[in-house]
Amino acid sequence: MTHYFKTTFLVIGAGISGLLIARILHDVGRSVRVLEKGRGFGGRMATRSIDNARFDHGAQYFTVRDPEFQTWVGRWKAAGIARKWFNKLPGDPKADGHPRYIGARGISDIAKGLSEGIQVFRETQAKELRWNDPGWTVRTDSGSVFPTDQLIITAPVPQALELLDRCGVPLPDEDIETLKTVRYEKALAVMAHLNGPSAIPSFGGMKVKESPLTWLADNQRKGISDVPAVTLHSDSAFAKTHWDSPDEVHGNLLIESAKPYLGAQVTKFTCHRWGYARPKQTYGSPFFHHSPSDLLLAGDGFGGPLVEGAALSAIKAAGVLLHHHRKEGTDPIPRPRPRGRKTHP
Ligand SMILES: Cc1cc2nc3c(=O)[nH]c(=O)nc-3n(C[C@H](O)[C@H](O)[C@H](O)COP(=O)(O)OP(=O)(O)OC[C@H]3O[C@@H](n4cnc5c(N)ncnc54)[C@H](O)[C@@H]3O)c2cc1C
Repeated sequence: MTHYFKTTFLVIGAGISGLLIARILHDVGRSVRVLEKGRGFGGRMATRSIDNARFDHGAQYFTVRDPEFQTWVGRWKAAGIARKWFNKLPGDPKADGHPRYIGARGISDIAKGLSEGIQVFRETQAKELRWNDPGWTVRTDSGSVFPTDQLIITAPVPQALELLDRCGVPLPDEDIETLKTVRYEKALAVMAHLNGPSAIPSFGGMKVKESPLTWLADNQRKGISDVPAVTLHSDSAFAKTHWDSPDEVHGNLLIESAKPYLGAQVTKFTCHRWGYARPKQTYGSPFFHHSPSDLLLAGDGFGGPLVEGAALSAIKAAGVLLHHHRKEGTDPIPRPRPRGRKTHP
């Protein structure tokens, strides 16, 4: 039997950008549902439990520079789902002293908190999109159907474009070409169990510039794991070269490179491939809104290559959506043009 779920706003993706848009719309009484193909909340703000260990294996912490984002983080701190981790990484000359925040028991706590009271369909992939002029119909891998007035896609831009292209959704060529310039880099992550405390200094996180590693974290010292558990991140060159190698191979290479900082034996490890870890080049505008077809794209590919960039994209996008779908009727607004693409070193 086919299930129909009619909604005013349908969001694809339960990462920070999708959930923040949904939260803002929900909080002012608008009908919104979220589809998420993964098992958990948070997308790249990912926390995983393996045996009795917990790992943040995507985003490690987030910055808060924008006052509007600061307001959200203040709420999360008050609700006990976010807390400060540190101000400055030792030996990081670029450190600006802004506080860095984490989730109370893992970075995905933020996403779980944001989703409260909102209908999020997890393990549900948007497979087919149809523009009905007006409105959309989205069909999922489980065969459910979601008719909606406004479609919001927060998947990494190449995945969003692939979905739109596969479904024959007509967008102006000029827009497609600009969206295609948004590029991401890959990363490989290793989640390793240790048989004792790690040698990662002070609060448990360190940037490294010793290829192939970029980052090491001790999740126990970070306060999210009860037992010794470290996360290692590779640089993008290593991820590109070893993308198709078995976990056993690239996992052991990363662990070998991390040995001086581990201070204990790895007893077991799990790997994760991030195909779209961070945008190298963003769109140049905080979101893409094609108002004639009620389609909006948001996320870090628009707002900037960090949790804060994705969140700011969402906050700005939600403002425009609320204006565009005012309850008394829609009122087309000028859509923002890219201010020039931005490359992120
Ligand atoms: C290894 C790594 C380390 C990082 N470190 C940091 C850091 O320390 N600090 C920082 O600020 N940022 C960091 N980032 C970047 C940060 O995680 C991202 O910028 C941010 O989380 C992006 O959020 P988003 O909502 O735009 O996208 P995502 O989190 O990717 O959310 C998009 C969601 O859409 C879902 N989706 C895609 N297609 C479909 C579909 N067809 N149907 C249903 N669902 C779909 C995906 O499963 C995903 O959950 C890191 C990222 C990685 C990978």
